[in-house]
Amino acid sequence: MDFATTDHNQIELECTNCHTRIALNKKVTGCPNCGENMLEARYDLSGINVQTWLAETKQRKHDLWRYREVLPIFNSANIISMGEGGTPLLKSQALAASLGLKNLYIKDERQGPTGSFKDRQATVAISALKEMGVNEVVVASTGNVAIAYAAYAARAGIKVWAFFPSLTPGDKMREAALYGAEVIKITGTYDQTKELAARFAKSKGIFLDRGIKSVAAIEAMKTIAYEIAEQLGDDLEGGERWRTPDWFLQGVSGGMGPIGVGKGFQEMMNFGLVDKMPAFGLIQSAGCAPMVEAFNRGQSIATPIENPQTIIATLATGNPGRAYELLYEYVQQYGGHFTSATDEEAFTATLIAARTEGISVEPATAVTFAGLIRMVREKVILPDDVVVVNCSGHTMSVEKHILGDQWQHSVELTEQHVAPTLPEEGLLSALQQVESNVRRIVIIEDNQDAARLIKRILQARGNYDIHLAADGAQGVQLVREVRPDMVITDLMMPDVDGFAVIETMKGDPTIKDIPIVVVTAKELTVKERARLSGQIEMLLQKGSFIDEEFIESLVNKLH
Ligand SMILES: *Cc1c(COP(=O)(O)O)cnc(C)c1O
Ligand SMILES: [Zn+2]
Repeated sequence: MDFATTDHNQIELECTNCHTRIALNKKVTGCPNCGENMLEARYDLSGINVQTWLAETKQRKHDLWRYREVLPIFNSANIISMGEGGTPLLKSQALAASLGLKNLYIKDERQGPTGSFKDRQATVAISALKEMGVNEVVVASTGNVAIAYAAYAARAGIKVWAFFPSLTPGDKMREAALYGAEVIKITGTYDQTKELAARFAKSKGIFLDRGIKSVAAIEAMKTIAYEIAEQLGDDLEGGERWRTPDWFLQGVSGGMGPIGVGKGFQEMMNFGLVDKMPAFGLIQSAGCAPMVEAFNRGQSIATPIENPQTIIATLATGNPGRAYELLYEYVQQYGGHFTSATDEEAFTATLIAARTEGISVEPATAVTFAGLIRMVREKVILPDDVVVVNCSGHTMSVEKHILGDQWQHSVELTEQHVAPTLPEEGLLSALQQVESNVRRIVIIEDNQDAARLIKRILQARGNYDIHLAADGAQGVQLVREVRPDMVITDLMMPDVDGFAVIETMKGDPTIKDIPIVVVTAKELTVKERARLSGQIEMLLQKGSFIDEEFIESLVNKLH
């Protein structure tokens, strides 16, 4: 049998509940017998000799299609690939030593084409869409899935409608938009966002990505297991055989990663490639930990968290549904532990990972490292255990607040040294396109550079009457005197801060209706956002200043 050209003739789906089997096709969304919507792919591998297969795969490229006999694409001509998967399994030195672990490995999923392990899901899902002839897809995401889908879809010529909850950092939404996705931001939780995306897809008759319930997602994630087993075998068994770690750790939101990894090890057990299943260390963000809470109560069904209290958007699935039941069963059967880490612990772990291992991770991944540290301290993980951490995603500019403001040494240049930059020219031309209309504006901002920048941007239109105040108290007084058409205020100011300015204005009937735009460098907590909601016109992040989007939204508010 020539494996290199092996394409599947038939792939079956098996119900995770009643084990009914049906043929894989696009229309299947649930079990025809019991209605269960999580179905698993089953391949006909009867013609395959495992030893020959192993030898054959060794000759192939190090991407996840190395294991294509167990992936749900019928014809390999439909594969959309950017070299995803085949990520390094790094052996930890310093962090392992500081934790007293002999065999700590980091599966470096940051090295995917868009910087997270969602690239695996994207290559399989988008290839499957191509195979099915689907040319438009709706996806709900906290960031990484949509970014990865948008990139792969761009290559496949498929249009993506990406729905994000408002907690998703703007930089991530922008990244998806860059690849050409339609970005829809929903002011609500991730669970509500999924709901809305589904309704949108239904009303427009567009294909809806089913996330964890889609066969492609689970099949894609299981390739992490195949790679770990092969790589650990190389490292610990001299390449003689494949090897299961004692632990697989991951920061968990919907649970797609570990469910896929569990399926991968299960299949390898069936093929006789490995001889045991790993225990799972599943770590959630303390502000959104429905799985951990259910586990601690000994319950097999999780109670949904209605209002996640974490700034780690990637891990903000409040209702894990069936995924938790499956993971709970897994842990009962093969061992494991659910634990949580606070946002603060995660940020500390970010620094630890960066400074001991030289790897910069996103907060969802930092949670995993925080969980690792906790499980070692609590002696859940023992010194001799072979541990693999899913290093699921790379840092993005979202993480700027982790280091506070002290991370850089800045060198000030006077204005004449600074060449005019292109983005600013872009914004000026955008401004010029807007109809002129004189308006009075008060800017309350203690940072003089920022104030000047906003003023300059607005003055480029040449017709605003701009008043500056350097602190909150002066600002409120100025607003009372000037009665502007709009107030632009910073949040973080000494003494009377932006929150106080807003409260004072809202309490004064003569100025309470003046629209307020908040400009801040601060990543707001959920509580702070709640405090502002309904009170202000718009929230803008500093740093996204010099871009057209900023100007456009500001100018639109003024007309
Ligand atoms: C999606 C994601 C997770 C959570 O994955 P699940 O297995 O779906 O719970 C963790 N880290 C990163 C970087 C992610 O993108
Ligand atoms: Zn069924």
